[in-house]
Amino acid sequence: MSKKNKSQAGTYNSFFSCIEKNFDKAARFISIEKGLLEQIKYCNAVYRMHFPVKIGKKIKVIEAYRVQHSHHKLPCKGGIRYSIKVNQDEIMTLAALMTYKCAIVDVPFGGSKGGIKIDPQNISVENIEKITRRYTSELIKKNFIGPGIDVPAPDYGTGEREMSWIFDTFLSILPGEVDALACVTGKPISQGGVRGRKEATGLGVFYGIRELCCMKEYMFSIGLDLGLDGKKVIIQGLGNVGYHAANFFYESGAIIVALAEREGAIYNKKGLNVSKVILHLKNTGSILNFPESKNIKNTEKALELECDILIPAALENVIHKNNANRIKAKIIGEAANGPVTPEADEILGKMGVIIVPDIYLNAGGVTVSYFEWLKNLSHVRYGRMEKRFNENMNFDLLQVIETISHKKIPKEKKKNILRGPREIDLVRSGLEDT
Ligand code: GLU
Repeated sequence: MSKKNKSQAGTYNSFFSCIEKNFDKAARFISIEKGLLEQIKYCNAVYRMHFPVKIGKKIKVIEAYRVQHSHHKLPCKGGIRYSIKVNQDEIMTLAALMTYKCAIVDVPFGGSKGGIKIDPQNISVENIEKITRRYTSELIKKNFIGPGIDVPAPDYGTGEREMSWIFDTFLSILPGEVDALACVTGKPISQGGVRGRKEATGLGVFYGIRELCCMKEYMFSIGLDLGLDGKKVIIQGLGNVGYHAANFFYESGAIIVALAEREGAIYNKKGLNVSKVILHLKNTGSILNFPESKNIKNTEKALELECDILIPAALENVIHKNNANRIKAKIIGEAANGPVTPEADEILGKMGVIIVPDIYLNAGGVTVSYFEWLKNLSHVRYGRMEKRFNENMNFDLLQVIETISHKKIPKEKKKNILRGPREIDLVRSGLEDT
C-alpha cells in the first residue's frame, strides 16, 4: 500500500486503500510475484462519464461510472448503484470486491461495478428511467456492457425495474444481439429473470450466519450457545438485502431487537415483527413511530445497541475507528460491501468479535445472477431441459423393460415412473418455470 493512502492520524483516507490493506494482508500468506499481485489488485478499466439529461426545463449533467476491476474471466460482473455519494474511489473498490467475491464462490466472472451519482428518492420515476437509458447507451458506446463483456445487476438504490430498462435499451440499440437477455441480471421474471434472485443476497446472509451459529468452536469462544433461536439481531438498512435478511432471521426464531433506516431506528428488546414494520413503512413512509418500539433518531446509534448479531446491510464504512469499541454485538455479518473499516476490524478483533466478511456473506446475489445469465444464454427455461431429459430417459427405459419382459406396463404405473423424483424436486424448489 502506498504511504499517501495513510494519513498521519492512521486513517485510510480512501475506500480503495482499505481494500488494498486487506489484500496485502492476505497476499502475505502466498508467494506470488509482486508484479502479478499488483495486476490483480488494481482496476483494469475505469470509465467516468458525464452526460446531459433534460429534467423539467433544465439540462442536468449526470456523473456516472463503470469500473472493470478484472478481466481474468469474462464477462465482468457487478451491480449498479444509484446514490448521491457515488464517486470513483467507491466504485473502484466495489468492483474489486466483486472480483474477490466471484472467486470465493467460484462463479466464472471478473469483477466490475457501476454507479450513478443521483438520489433516486428525490427524482421522478420518468427521470430515473431517462437517466438509466442514457447511461446504458453510454456503456454500449464504449463497449462496457454485453453478455460476454460486462453484465450489470442491481445494487444499492436499483432493482428489477432499472434492470429491465437496461435490457430494453440494450436490445433496442443492438436488435441483432441474439443473447441480449444476458446483458444484465436481476431482471423481472417476465423478462428473463429467475425466481429467488431478489431474496438471494439476504438468504445467503442468513445461511452464512446460521452456519456460524452451528459451529461450537466459534460460538462457545464468544460465550454464545448454538443456534439462531432467541439470538438478538440488529439489522441496519431495509433495502433488498436487509429486508430479506430480516425476514429470514425473524422466521428462524431470532429476535429482531432493532431495525435501522436512513431516517432513524426503532428498538424493542422483546423483538420487532418484521412484516408489521414493513407494512408500517409502506403506510407511513418511515419505520419511525412503529407501535411498541422506541425511536432512535440517530441511526448510527442503532449499531451500538445491545445484541448478539449485528447485520450492517446498507453502505460501506459505517463501523469505523470512532464507534468500533462501542459495538456490543459478538458477531458482525457484513451484508453490505465494506461496512467495517480496517481500523475497526483491528479493534473488533481485539474485542473478540467475529466478523463474517462481505465477499463471502453477501455472495448469494451474484451466485444466483450466474444462473440467470446461464439461463439467458442457453435460451432454455429452467425445468425444461431436466424434464425432457428425464422423460426421454424414462421412456427409453420403459420400452426396454417392455421389450425384454414382453409385457405392457399399465398406463397408471407409467405415469408414476415418468414423474420421477428429480422433476418433483424442481417443481418443489420453485426453480421450474411455468
Ligand atoms: N450488487 C450485488 C453485489 O454486490 C450483485 C451483483 C451481481 O449480481 O452481479 O454482489
